Amino acid sequence: MSLFDEAFDGPPGLALGHSAIDALGAQTLPTTPANYEIWVTHQLGRHPDLSRELQARIARGEPLSAAFLEDLFERYFANTRLSLQLIEAGESIARELTDVAATLKDAGSEAGAYSNALDTAASQFEQGIDPKTFRAVVTQLAVASRDMAARNKELAEQMAASSRQVDTLQAALQSVKVEALTDSLTGLANRKQFDAALRRRIEEANSGGSQLCLMMCDIDHFKRVNDTWGHLVGDQVIRFIANQMQQMAQGDCLCARYGGEEFTVIMPRKTLREASTFGEAFNRKVKAKVLTRRSTGESLGQVTVSIGIAQYRLGESVSDLIGRADACLYSAKRGGRDRVTTEEESNRTAA
Ligand code: GH3
Ligand code: MG
Ligand code: MG
Repeated sequence: MSLFDEAFDGPPGLALGHSAIDALGAQTLPTTPANYEIWVTHQLGRHPDLSRELQARIARGEPLSAAFLEDLFERYFANTRLSLQLIEAGESIARELTDVAATLKDAGSEAGAYSNALDTAASQFEQGIDPKTFRAVVTQLAVASRDMAARNKELAEQMAASSRQVDTLQAALQSVKVEALTDSLTGLANRKQFDAALRRRIEEANSGGSQLCLMMCDIDHFKRVNDTWGHLVGDQVIRFIANQMQQMAQGDCLCARYGGEEFTVIMPRKTLREASTFGEAFNRKVKAKVLTRRSTGESLGQVTVSIGIAQYRLGESVSDLIGRADACLYSAKRGGRDRVTTEEESNRTAA
């Protein structure tokens, strides 16, 4: 949705805005810019995938929770947000450079005046000079030199300030980039970063013939956690799982939040056996901890995770690999949850 989108012109545009606000109201959703953008995009039919996800959720009778909408916005609009921030930062740098250029031009004309003063003095000296004029010319030169020195100092200070400003903007740009690739609840890589990393690792595996494994992990009976303790406690459990995962992952493994309470680890140069050892250790680490509710100290009981692991087959596509890891996860769930299922085991069970 751009600010200059013609869908928002005139009475039809106004009607569109009203109907989005009404629809959000009907779902008792706050009219945040993100929710508004999701809804308008849906109504305009601009993003069939987004509309499908939204309608499927409504059809299942699941509430459009803040977490669900945030995740949707993150996945469909993170790019838009990033480019807006980049444009703003770019404009800021341009303004700064224009100021510097103007200062340099001023300094240029003053330097010109100074050099004129020097020339005039030089020609007066050449022509021969009487003591009275000599004194006047030297005084003029001293004044011009002092002005020039003061201007130089001011210019140096301004250049230093500008360069600090540019550094700050660069740091801001960097943090925008990091933010756009990070899941805000857990601090893990988000789906966008996961997709890019997996594509890169697959190219690497194809060109170097190296091993690559993918682990998918889903919290068991998580709906119960939400239903019993509420969404905020549910969020804390998600954060706990993410922390445990991040602490265990080593080297160039990338942990990401794949969706709601689903996580994934990309494991470059790991055999299926090594990946399975990691999965088993992670599964044990999670259930070893009895979680308690921070506010009251009540025990939440044990949380367990199901894990599926697939190994990349050279030449296959990203979605095939994800699909096979997902199938293993499904098989772990079907087998009773709280377990790790690798492809070998999954095939054995199927046979
Ligand atoms: P299963 O063992 O089959 O995985 O059962 P489950 O109850 O965990 O089922 P499922 O994985 O389908 O349920 C996911 C639930 O997680 C549904 C959704 O409301 C909840 N959820 C998704 N994202 C979030 C989130 O960010 N925060 C919280 N608190 N809950 C979330
Ligand atoms: Mg799930
Ligand atoms: Mg689950």
